[in-house]
Amino acid sequence: MVYCPKCGKKFLETPESCDFCGEIFQEENRFNKGIKIFDTIGVILAVISLILAYYLRNNKNTTLLEVLFILIFFIIMFMFLSKRVRGYVQSLFIRLWFKGQKTKQCPQCENLVSDDKFCFSCGYKLENVKGYYKLGGRFNPVYVELNKNYIRMFKTYSTRYETHRLEPIEYKISDIKDPEINWCEARLFTSPCLKFSYDLKEIILPYHPRMKPVLEELFPNLISTEVGGLINWFINQNKTKITILITIFLILVVGLNYYFTAKTELSLISTSSEIPNLEVTNSSAYRMVYGPNNIIITGNVKNNGKKVLKYVQVYCVGYDSAGEIVNQHSTYLNLYKDSNSGEILKPGETAYFEAHVDDYNHQIVKYKVIVYQDTFWMENS
Ligand SMILES: [Zn+2]
Ligand SMILES: [Zn+2]
Repeated sequence: MVYCPKCGKKFLETPESCDFCGEIFQEENRFNKGIKIFDTIGVILAVISLILAYYLRNNKNTTLLEVLFILIFFIIMFMFLSKRVRGYVQSLFIRLWFKGQKTKQCPQCENLVSDDKFCFSCGYKLENVKGYYKLGGRFNPVYVELNKNYIRMFKTYSTRYETHRLEPIEYKISDIKDPEINWCEARLFTSPCLKFSYDLKEIILPYHPRMKPVLEELFPNLISTEVGGLINWFINQNKTKITILITIFLILVVGLNYYFTAKTELSLISTSSEIPNLEVTNSSAYRMVYGPNNIIITGNVKNNGKKVLKYVQVYCVGYDSAGEIVNQHSTYLNLYKDSNSGEILKPGETAYFEAHVDDYNHQIVKYKVIVYQDTFWMENS
């Protein structure tokens, strides 16, 4: 079913022109064509991604194609599995396709419309529509239609993929008393609102500055308070609530920071070297309080001798408070990072090491560092 945008006459299928008022249905036929093209692009993308998927199954190491495939795959996922995203992409496409037309939404059926008198898709009288606004959060937005004769508010409920509008609540313009733009306190924050009395009750609707010119046109007696700006927003918040919120936020930040950085320092028993003229400097060890079950021992090894050294390893041992060995671990010096020469430690050079010693029961309190040479590799190289 379609409707003539000029006179509202109902047709079963889109005709070339309206037989009542003579309106030519050029835009509408173009719109249908646009939707067909949009769907065709989707099908073509789907086919391409299937072909790519088949091709990738038989050819490994084709990273660019993989990226392309994933991209196209996601476009299709978004467009055809999520109605919300599909609607968004489709309306972008239609806006591009029509350039300047189809810029508004019909408050009744939510399809894109031009400056017509009647909605082509549902026949709603657009002439009286002054504005249609989506307000509030992403998860439960509220839609408000400002109409010459009434204000309608649609509350919504959201599922994972879609937002559904509920039946509108309607307020007749002629029955609205004392309209006012002001700040209204909600559960958490105070935000701009449209307040009025209706049927002896106070009604509060969400407000956006875009609505102001229309509201001024609808209500010559509108009282409006300045509601723009971040500072203004802050000033108008409930002081107690905002203090509690900031406090909770700070506690969270401090707590999380402590959680992720809290360390227990371990004490060093001794450092020694089996290789002459090697010295361990700046050694320290710690355990993350809320981290994995190991201790991390770091330090530097300096070559004070005149020989070039290869296969230098660091042996780290963890002891409990009674002086018993809990665990140990050997690691090579981090020569590739610290030394320009690769795997050797030249005279005068210093290299960093980091060893991770397992400590499942958090027993280790002391540690030793011993530097030695890996003789197996020395003899076999
Ligand atoms: Zn007509
Ligand atoms: Zn409509």
